[in-house]
Amino acid sequence: MICPCEKKGETSVVDSRPTEDGTAIRRRRMCVCGERFTTFERIQFRELMVVKKKREKISI
Ligand SMILES: [Zn+2]
Repeated sequence: MICPCEKKGETSVVDSRPTEDGTAIRRRRMCVCGERFTTFERIQFRELMVVKKKREKISI
């Protein structure tokens, strides 16, 4: 993953652990610029994608 900083530096994972309910993985990342941020890795089922499309149609 690339850091959102102006340098767009490559980031490395400092720490990685599951969330309390275990449905996602939380990763702490650090960029060469010194910026630190967290990313979440979640499961996305097809059903959820369908629901999202329906919602988009309603909003139009
Ligand atoms: Zn950076």
